[in-house]
Amino acid sequence: MFLRNARLAQGHNVDIAIGADGRITDIGPVHSGAPAGPHDLIEDLTGYLLLSSAAEPHAHLDKALTADLAPNTQGDLLGAIDAWIGFAPTQSRDQIAVRALRAAEELLANGVTAVRTHVNVRTGQFDAIEALLTVRDQLHGALDMQLVALTTMQLCGGPEMYRRVLQQSAALDSCVVIGGCPHLDDDAQQATDISLDVAGETNRPLDLHTDESLNPDALHLPYLAERVIHLGYRHGATASHCVSLGVLDPVQQRDISELVAGAGVAVVTLPQTNLFLQGRAHRQSTPRGLTALRSLLDAGVTLGAGADNVRDPFNLMGRSDPMETAALLVMAGHLSVAEAYGAVTDGARGAMGLPPVTIAVGQRADLLAICGQSLNDAVARADSSRIVFSAGRIVARTVVKRSTYPTSNHTHRQD
Ligand SMILES: [Zn+2]
Repeated sequence: MFLRNARLAQGHNVDIAIGADGRITDIGPVHSGAPAGPHDLIEDLTGYLLLSSAAEPHAHLDKALTADLAPNTQGDLLGAIDAWIGFAPTQSRDQIAVRALRAAEELLANGVTAVRTHVNVRTGQFDAIEALLTVRDQLHGALDMQLVALTTMQLCGGPEMYRRVLQQSAALDSCVVIGGCPHLDDDAQQATDISLDVAGETNRPLDLHTDESLNPDALHLPYLAERVIHLGYRHGATASHCVSLGVLDPVQQRDISELVAGAGVAVVTLPQTNLFLQGRAHRQSTPRGLTALRSLLDAGVTLGAGADNVRDPFNLMGRSDPMETAALLVMAGHLSVAEAYGAVTDGARGAMGLPPVTIAVGQRADLLAICGQSLNDAVARADSSRIVFSAGRIVARTVVKRSTYPTSNHTHRQD
């Protein structure tokens, strides 16, 4: 594969050669070289900006695309949970798989080549995770997929059944990560302890919905960090949402962020869902519901960002687009554009236990070509015309043809 005239985020254009092993073999000035062999595919990227592909560190593909089927009449988190509990039993394994595949293909077309999706499980009910395993297999080679077993002690019928459900989920496949939602359980520390136990005994990463609350007393992140340090847990811990950290004063945010950095716990922020769900009781100066992004970055915490729920009761909106997530981090989180794109690429990969992707010789060619002149331009426009590469192979291509008719004499302008 030979990529011609690709513009890099640094502002210059290059030609890039990719070897049969899917890794970049050469980067040089435009037209300075030639394809290695006469049968190499040549992709002209004139007009495209070439970036590392994105990763989605926190999806809920089993719930995706159900907003119209399971209405959230209250609009908040508890309303979403109620809507989902009423709707979920109506779904067959095949129905879940069909929706999840559609949602995963949207991610892929938008430039995501690795995804971690949480999947609901409970005592005796593993249909959703089994459905997602079939989707994982269907997309093998294009989209790397990790599944997180998501449940609560309450849903499972007590702490021992919770432990058992997590163990049974891990036994289904080696890609299964241990999850949990401690802030929804009466004893959040017990839920955290059990999830950490199972993650340790099964040698799996851990990814918890740590909290989704503006209540500072719902802060469970420091406990997770302390336990990870105490146990010497080394399989990769990720704390998702961490909304309550964002309502603390800056000194508390700094101290906790430094603790989290020391523990090596990654944090995943989900701006879209938390902007949608949080703050509905605050009609004045409505809080944004995001975690303490700046404090976490200053402390050196691995910060990933994701789209989370997409068009389901937990979030009615969403395009499964990392550019949408990055733009929200700029607007609602006040990150720079480079920090925001970093959160949906290397930060997201770090939270998933994956190595970073850089456009350099020897690196795996997981790439996104998107119409744009600069990173700012690409994130702001979020143009739909994109080409996605996974290990040097084109795995998605979207072409949009737009016509405008600025005058009444039918002179057409096209781009
Ligand atoms: Zn979630």
